[in-house]
Amino acid sequence: MIDRRALTASIAILVVAAGALPAPAGATEPKPPPPTAATSIVVDGAEVTIREPRAGGGEKITIYTAAEPTGGRNLLNRLQAQGLAPKSGVSVLVEPDTCAPEGAGYDQAHFLGTNPGCIYYSWRENSFADPQVYFRDHTPAEWPVRASVAEWNKARGVDSYWTTGACPTGGRHCVNVYAGNYGPNWEGGAVAKTYMEVDYQVYFVDGTVQIKFNNYYFTAGQSRRNAACHETGHALGVGHNDRKWSCMYPTQAGSSQIPNIYDIALLENYLYS
Ligand SMILES: [Zn+2]
Repeated sequence: MIDRRALTASIAILVVAAGALPAPAGATEPKPPPPTAATSIVVDGAEVTIREPRAGGGEKITIYTAAEPTGGRNLLNRLQAQGLAPKSGVSVLVEPDTCAPEGAGYDQAHFLGTNPGCIYYSWRENSFADPQVYFRDHTPAEWPVRASVAEWNKARGVDSYWTTGACPTGGRHCVNVYAGNYGPNWEGGAVAKTYMEVDYQVYFVDGTVQIKFNNYYFTAGQSRRNAACHETGHALGVGHNDRKWSCMYPTQAGSSQIPNIYDIALLENYLYS
């Protein structure tokens, strides 16, 4: 026998939930509601990623990249010593990125996603056919942000622009990219730090996403090109790629200066389809 009061309450909850999670304009289907986040740390190659719950829902994500040969595990030790990463009460996973689309067509490309649940991070379309993402470049020319953004803009479905001007308005998004000589001990000895917040619908929060490069490291042009490609890829929602012929490979040594076809496919066919 059906308990009518319980049934009515269930319907009411469903209505409230549906009202709280409207489908974004233009999206083929809404994202599922994200599970409750807990603080977590993942070490992958030269990187440490710290995910924390965000007030109002969503997550705060900080990605630190070690200047090799220190490596991600050593970087985490130094971040903890500097009070930048929790020392206890948090699970530390040493593993490659695991969030990947179902089915073939993406090889070893992964996306950035919620922990737990692997719901992908992406930019809102707002009133545009595709999300408009402007990388506002504050760096000196030695950091090839412009060339890297041009590579990512080859992906249909999301429009990536390079600018040195002010952040545009009207529903366009802006990622600030900075560089400075922060010295050998900045952020545990990092060469790059990328910070982003996603809201309760797992979309990037305007005004929060930024990349910082440490001029102290990576004087070689090739390394800086790889780092610029890698971090701008993260700012679009792309995770690591287990193939060295992608700039999203999680360590610098021997990896590409540009995205591979599967990183582009991930953007076109999954994150911004
Ligand atoms: Zn990375």
